[in-house]
Amino acid sequence: MSIAIVLIEHEAGTVRSASLEALGAAQAAGCEVVAVATGSDAANTTAALGEHGAAKVVVLGGDKYSPDGLAGDLAKIVREQGAKAFLATASSTGRDIAPRVAAELDCALFSDCTAFEADGDSFKLVRPWLAGKLIASLKSNAPVTCATLRRNTFAPKATGGSAEVMQVDSSTDFRAVLSKIEAKAEGMLDVAEAPIVVSGGRGMKEAEHFSLIENLARAFGNAAVGASRAVVDAGWRPHAEQVGQTGKTVAPQLYIAVGISGAIQHLAGMKTSKVIVAINKDADAPIFKIADFGIVGDAFEILPRLTEAVLEARAKV
Ligand SMILES: Cc1cc2nc3c(=O)[nH]c(=O)nc-3n(C[C@H](O)[C@H](O)[C@H](O)COP(=O)(O)OP(=O)(O)OC[C@H]3O[C@@H](n4cnc5c(N)ncnc54)[C@H](O)[C@@H]3O)c2cc1C
Repeated sequence: MSIAIVLIEHEAGTVRSASLEALGAAQAAGCEVVAVATGSDAANTTAALGEHGAAKVVVLGGDKYSPDGLAGDLAKIVREQGAKAFLATASSTGRDIAPRVAAELDCALFSDCTAFEADGDSFKLVRPWLAGKLIASLKSNAPVTCATLRRNTFAPKATGGSAEVMQVDSSTDFRAVLSKIEAKAEGMLDVAEAPIVVSGGRGMKEAEHFSLIENLARAFGNAAVGASRAVVDAGWRPHAEQVGQTGKTVAPQLYIAVGISGAIQHLAGMKTSKVIVAINKDADAPIFKIADFGIVGDAFEILPRLTEAVLEARAKV
């Protein structure tokens, strides 16, 4: 059985859902999973990781985050464990670390993959290319297959097991170190992780009208607000909410695009969403070509009614 090393992301010891999905992907590919958790609260992740299929958890001690230091430590763990795969999520952390690990191992990186399967001693992977216009099926011949996995694409697998825990000191041999993280406002879900995303575009006309988008997101209870680049460029919404080629890639259970035309660069970030609903007053808007459900009409009339309907439906559950 091949060993896969999975880099775990967590917040104060609570494992991010995307990392549980990466554990699920490694198990589905028939790998024995070695999870690596880093940072001062890393030890708090071990139970959850064991329950989600990790045979072993390597806890990398240390409270400093250094991308080059961590990549060096991970490459060392890959070599020591004799792993055939190194997996991270296609998050900003994964994008920061995985290419460095691949470089340390002198292997190629398969980024933002939507499929990961065993193929004998190696692996087959699928990833969208050219902003999702092409879907590439790839076979890795690398001694270690390094990949980042798209979030909300792979299923986590609860096994109810427990993991062997190994404590390892992180290297102090690094060039760059993170000095400060500014936390986002409490209670807001990350657009890349939320199961429901309500995104607004230029059709919302001005920043203040995004309260209608926020109300709908709040009505669902588990939704995040997203935005097109046009509104981020206009300064109506923060870049952290931008969905698309130069923003975040999302694949929620439900994506609601309001007043968004459906430019290819926006679609690149959301077209693998499970169910897409588009609200646009232009029946010919390109977003309707990929939408599962379309509402042709004025967002300012539809959003309050939709919000009310969602609240009513949730009150009945
Ligand atoms: C290199 C590059 C990278 C890019 N990266 C991204 C990216 O990451 N993400 C991204 O989103 N874009 C990106 N873009 C920009 C992209 O090409 C589009 O310009 C942008 O997505 C358009 O945003 P929009 O749909 O909000 O605005 P518009 O295209 O102006 O569409 C507004 C829509 O709102 C509708 N509308 C207007 N009024 C109402 C109303 N009252 N009710 C309902 N509907 C209404 C209109 O019919 C229209 O369809 C990128 C472009 C380039 C060149």
